Amino acid sequence: MNKVEKKYFYGKQLIDDSDIEEVVKVLKSDYLTQGPVVAQFENLLAKKFNSKFCSVVANGTGGLHLIGLSLGWKKKDVIITTPMTFVATANSILYSGAEPDFCDIDKYTYTLDITKLEEKIIAYKKIGTKIKAVIGVDYAGLPCDWFKLKELANKYNFQLVNDNCHALGAEINEDIGYACKYADIVNMSFHPVKHITTGEGGALLTNNEALENKIKLLRTHGITKNENDFKLKNKNPIGSWYYEMQELGFNYRITDFQCALGIAQLKKLNKFIKRRREIADYYNNIFSKNDRFIIPNVPEHFKHSYHLYPLQINFAELKISKKAFFERLKEKNINLQVHYIPVHLQPFYRKKFGFKEGDFPIAEKFYENEISIPIYPTLKKNDLKYICKEIIECAK
Ligand SMILES: *Cc1c(COP(=O)(O)O)cnc(C)c1O
Repeated sequence: MNKVEKKYFYGKQLIDDSDIEEVVKVLKSDYLTQGPVVAQFENLLAKKFNSKFCSVVANGTGGLHLIGLSLGWKKKDVIITTPMTFVATANSILYSGAEPDFCDIDKYTYTLDITKLEEKIIAYKKIGTKIKAVIGVDYAGLPCDWFKLKELANKYNFQLVNDNCHALGAEINEDIGYACKYADIVNMSFHPVKHITTGEGGALLTNNEALENKIKLLRTHGITKNENDFKLKNKNPIGSWYYEMQELGFNYRITDFQCALGIAQLKKLNKFIKRRREIADYYNNIFSKNDRFIIPNVPEHFKHSYHLYPLQINFAELKISKKAFFERLKEKNINLQVHYIPVHLQPFYRKKFGFKEGDFPIAEKFYENEISIPIYPTLKKNDLKYICKEIIECAK
């Protein structure tokens, strides 16, 4: 009998029988979508991450789209984010017609460099432009310096968004609800590589009721069935069939059976994070002993939740190229990934906005060095041993 070879990826979901049971229950119920489980999941997320409101959506990208619309972004608004993120973060700025710009990352945390951000804001101010918003990305699972971001937001009066897709379960000062504490609105994704999954899915968390109402409206075609919100209430006969479309919205809803999966997964989030931290500790211990590697830093008072384990290798000093390194490890069934190609270097952003190599040198250097190595709850000690041994052997 052929033994099935074990393959490793940078990230992977864990679905067990309890997840499956919860989904099946909903599949056998009256509502596959627009039923009661959606609000149950929303309430649990709001409770877990200490927000007043929560709206679950079809995916994280749709959530980002709704953020821009609900914050009123429009043409000529300048919105700054990090180049070290998935393209969806920056694309969401363009969805509402606003103008994207980037700010380089900090060399040690890989998140927005606060000093450079303030310099950038001041430079814009000098030419008469006020920044509309900043989107911080808690890259790999390490929160940005949200305290300082909030200080800047107050000082220069801009909106603050947390693209929190990597960082469920991370903490600042022991607070797992830090994201909504500092940002006006927070975006999550439940794609299978993220901490918890609903297949496709996402959530928007906020303490701001006006934003919440706008999001709920836009999530479902701009339609409301709530009588108190009707605009034409005095003119029209109102029966139970009646609804009003008040804005140009979308269908960014998520199904009830996905939310059932989300509820079952959320129960396991703490366990998942604990295991991810154990894996990171293991890697930290091995790779910190070898000066070919740079392990991710965690500043004091911060807790990393390790959606990714970004390991830096100075390939310029090795005989092996990054490309050959990837291929060699793939032959060993270790499928690495890189997070991310800096967004400003994508052909679309170069062509449309004139970004080029050298614009954000720290992010570009980090991209050259970074590899995302396997980190997910089902990895066992033997897997980690094997992965470390192969990486060290190839990095020559
Ligand atoms: C995954 C991710 C998204 C997009 O989420 P989807 O649910 O895949 O649409 C956006 N931003 C960041 C930082 C992400 O990691």
